[in-house]
Amino acid sequence: MKLNVNSIDRFTKELPADKVLDNSRRQVEGACFSYVNPKLPKNPSLLHVSTAMLRNLGLKEEDGQRTEFLYVVSGKVVLPNTKPYAMCYGGHQFGNWAGQLGDGRAINLTEIAHNNKIWALQLKGAGETPYSRTADGLAVLRSSIREYLCSEAMYYLGVPTTRALSIALSGSKVLRDVMYNGNSAYEKGAIVSRVAPSFLRFGNYEIFASRGDNATLKTLVDYTINNHFSYLGTPSKAVYLDFLREVAKKSMEMVIHWQRVGFVHGVMNTDNMSILGLTIDYGPYGWLEGYDHNWTPNTTDSSHKRYRYGTQPQIVLWNLLQLARALYGLIEEAASLEEILEEYRINVKVAHLEMMRNKLGLNTKIDNDEKLVEDLEKVLQLTETDMTIFFRNLADLKKEQFHDWFNIVEDAFYNHKEVSGTIKENWIKWFNDYGKRLSMEVWTDKERKITMNTVNPKYVLRNYMAQLAINAADDGDYTVLDELFELLKKPYDEQPNALKWFAKRPEWARHKVGCSMLSCSS
Ligand code: AMP
Ligand code: MG
Repeated sequence: MKLNVNSIDRFTKELPADKVLDNSRRQVEGACFSYVNPKLPKNPSLLHVSTAMLRNLGLKEEDGQRTEFLYVVSGKVVLPNTKPYAMCYGGHQFGNWAGQLGDGRAINLTEIAHNNKIWALQLKGAGETPYSRTADGLAVLRSSIREYLCSEAMYYLGVPTTRALSIALSGSKVLRDVMYNGNSAYEKGAIVSRVAPSFLRFGNYEIFASRGDNATLKTLVDYTINNHFSYLGTPSKAVYLDFLREVAKKSMEMVIHWQRVGFVHGVMNTDNMSILGLTIDYGPYGWLEGYDHNWTPNTTDSSHKRYRYGTQPQIVLWNLLQLARALYGLIEEAASLEEILEEYRINVKVAHLEMMRNKLGLNTKIDNDEKLVEDLEKVLQLTETDMTIFFRNLADLKKEQFHDWFNIVEDAFYNHKEVSGTIKENWIKWFNDYGKRLSMEVWTDKERKITMNTVNPKYVLRNYMAQLAINAADDGDYTVLDELFELLKKPYDEQPNALKWFAKRPEWARHKVGCSMLSCSS
């Protein structure tokens, strides 16, 4: 029996295809995609399936166990009446225009319609495409587990994201130099099938603007509006502006969620910015353990730290500027585009403050809140303080007993001894201010705690947790992968049986590759 999905292909039917059909690396012009088949996997095996995602696609849990399913999500067979393709895009990488990039190792299988939703289904690591440039089109188990676990974890945290459907081994080995230091080794090859309403990126628009190809740019922008922003109305110059405004709004919401949960993307190049404001391309991302605005897990970015936690909202603005430049060709009026970017600049500050108010359990607004938040951000960085534990435990503070603060948040401090002298005085001052501020609120302690616990997760995919799942999986043991997958479905629940994951990063993980240091190697 065949897999019963309702395939429709809007992208390939409505947009221009690359006329060249051979799978050779080259510049592809005047086309949004190239037809290409996945590489045949040697000996595929399924490691994990997201049941929730199966259901979204109209499949049953049992379908996920069928050989036919494994064959589709590993690239061994192509779904009937579908033609897989790789998308053409460019991008600004680390602040510089990088020219054509494209799906170098992602292959879109089809789009699937179910329950009034349409999902694009894509394989990552399924072989080379015309966009593979100098690389092999493959992915290793390590990076695939990181993408698989984190994208589903983000979804359950309430962060806009692409989703993951499955992870499979290809049965072949892939050569990688993890830290780019001349120590190449073979790793297990893997394929993640991932799902989103669309995988379009800022770079998909930039590539046509960079080539002065306004005709294809217009076709793609109109397509995007008609299929993903149809509520904006029929495409016109005014609607193009509304489109940019919507992308700015969605991207802002996404990055504010990142700041809320302590997620650092690591490679916010414009080719990794979804036009739908979804977190996309899980590479050398990481989670703040010690709260630190300067932290980035990406060793490739260690000297400039362009994509560090504290600058993520500004980088979104920079990326929006590149998108605005690309759209200029269709709008030809800079003032309105600049206005939208200016709106973002103002709105993101407001949204950040609102998000921090929520994290602090403040229901009302007063002018001084901005100062309270800034002071907290400073004092949190005086000594290594675990972000997740700090905010989660903060909800236990009693309005009348705020002097008791140390006992409440002490588990968040990596080194208690450092919380002394002026650092301790700073904390005392901050908790005094916070205590006073809480006394202006009508919420009871219980009400505040309940609300705070809906925005301050108890469990996130700490960097070392993913690494533990990887180490075990490398040895053929998938129990940690499964355990974390289940744990992270309920990140705001207490889950008393899982308290070992509500703990500071263990010391062994502090400087370990994969835990605190990640390269783009994947
Ligand atoms: P990233 O920084 O991972 O988003 O990737 C940047 C560009 O490199 C994209 O065009 C990717 O498709 C491409 N790329 C990354 N890894 C590979 C690989 N192993 N093979 C082919 N292309 C790749
Ligand atoms: Mg990418």
